[in-house]
Amino acid sequence: MTAIDLLLQKLPLIRQWIDMTLKANASYARPISYYGFQEIPKYFSQDILVSVKVVEVQKIPVPPLAQIGLNQLGDFENGDYAGITYLDTYFLLTQEAHKEALHFHELCHIVQWKCLGLDKFLMAYALGLLQNGYRNSPLEVMAYEYQMMFEKKIAPFNIEKQIVDKLTNNPI
Ligand SMILES: [Zn+2]
Repeated sequence: MTAIDLLLQKLPLIRQWIDMTLKANASYARPISYYGFQEIPKYFSQDILVSVKVVEVQKIPVPPLAQIGLNQLGDFENGDYAGITYLDTYFLLTQEAHKEALHFHELCHIVQWKCLGLDKFLMAYALGLLQNGYRNSPLEVMAYEYQMMFEKKIAPFNIEKQIVDKLTNNPI
């Protein structure tokens, strides 16, 4: 079985886990407006910003990939993350949650999820991990590049359009 076949076979289990995790945490979700950030609204549309949910946690929830049968992704499961995004929700470690650049990074993933949809995002993300590892996987490279531009205070730009154009012109 190829890696792609295996991923496709396991996709429903990851979908279920995401669904369960989002439901279990829905009552803890906050709007991003809670944080009162001044820079982020210059880059993202109100449409995105009002739709996003933020959940602060002590430990970032990651799917039980080894248990699901995706042992090759075990490294990712055991990694140390400050944040992670599932669909319209991102989870942040409480002690990192005041960092605007981290929110910016996760918002880039929100746009990716929105553009690709659940199955395509998961497949692209998982294949990226398998082929390149976490930091060099294409969807992470994109989010880190934009985060770096944000941190360098590069003039605001329409980031949603840039991400959607990239994903459309260079399918992952
Ligand atoms: Zn990321």
